[in-house]
Amino acid sequence: MVKWYRPGTLDEALEIRARETVIPIAGATDLYVRYRRRSGLAPEFSAPLLAVGHLTELQGYSDENGELRIGAGVPYADILSDGRTPVLLAAAVRELAAPALRNVATLGGNICNASPAADAACPLYALDARCELRSASRARTLPIAEFITGPGRTQIEPDELLTAIIIPPGPGRVTAAIDDDATTRVLYRKVGTRRANALSKLAIAAWASLSGGGVESVGVAIGAVAPTVVRSREVEADFVGSLESLREKTDAILAAYGRLVAPIDDQRSTAEYRREVALNLVKQFIEQSLLA
Ligand SMILES: Cc1cc2nc3c(=O)[nH]c(=O)nc-3n(C[C@H](O)[C@H](O)[C@H](O)COP(=O)(O)OP(=O)(O)OC[C@H]3O[C@@H](n4cnc5c(N)ncnc54)[C@H](O)[C@@H]3O)c2cc1C
Repeated sequence: MVKWYRPGTLDEALEIRARETVIPIAGATDLYVRYRRRSGLAPEFSAPLLAVGHLTELQGYSDENGELRIGAGVPYADILSDGRTPVLLAAAVRELAAPALRNVATLGGNICNASPAADAACPLYALDARCELRSASRARTLPIAEFITGPGRTQIEPDELLTAIIIPPGPGRVTAAIDDDATTRVLYRKVGTRRANALSKLAIAAWASLSGGGVESVGVAIGAVAPTVVRSREVEADFVGSLESLREKTDAILAAYGRLVAPIDDQRSTAEYRREVALNLVKQFIEQSLLA
């Protein structure tokens, strides 16, 4: 028998979290796989479950002081239908799992599961997203790059819940498809074995803001090629400047990303394939999105 809590409010959920070891559960699409047993047997959880996906406080979008706040319990279907969703995040969600699953699976679950191949994480790194955490006694926010510390590992404390993902204003947070005159260029590519229900072999989410015939700022995040999403401000600084200098620095930029990625062989792909395709996608972003 699985023991469940279904609190009516966030405060009630945080009280339970403070007094007892529980497993937060939202859409359950990662948890049921993690705790599955052989066919015909119900999953066996290591602690009582705390349902959080239905909590009103974890739902909805708000846009305050230019910051977009997406509730941790918002399912992907709602993310796709909201016009405020940044185009990079929408592109990742559109290729995540399949429509039926996107009705229940949540953004918060994807982040807390902390898989190196978490598709929503990649654009959120590129967009400098922050994770909002609450316990019964405190609230804090952490950049996503600090929140996720390794495969399956985050900085969440046993008494906390992830309540929202906050995306700050910035040139990468465009919401519409880019036309030829746009000053922001974006690229999202997921490489998987099929179009639905395929975890990423690797993925890239990148944006660049162009001005005065050159690159003003840029964000490049590469997923599933290291224990956590790869993003480097140092390498991004090399993109900035005239398009001519970017052309000259392209090989050095690719070499730098080559040193940063540390992919593994697993059932989905090989380290060699991941490395080569990741660098090809960075090259494609530079040559086709910025220099063309
Ligand atoms: C068939 C299938 C296809 C899939 N395809 C993809 C894919 O293409 N790309 C991809 O990235 N993922 C994929 N997934 C994985 C999964 O659907 C996503 O990671 C999803 O976003 C998880 O959200 P959830 O609400 O179901 O999380 P859950 O399974 O409910 O929870 C996941 C983890 O997060 C914790 N958690 C959830 N919410 C909170 C909270 N508010 N505060 C604290 N902790 C919390 C849970 O305790 C658990 O550790 C797939 C899964 C399946 C079954």
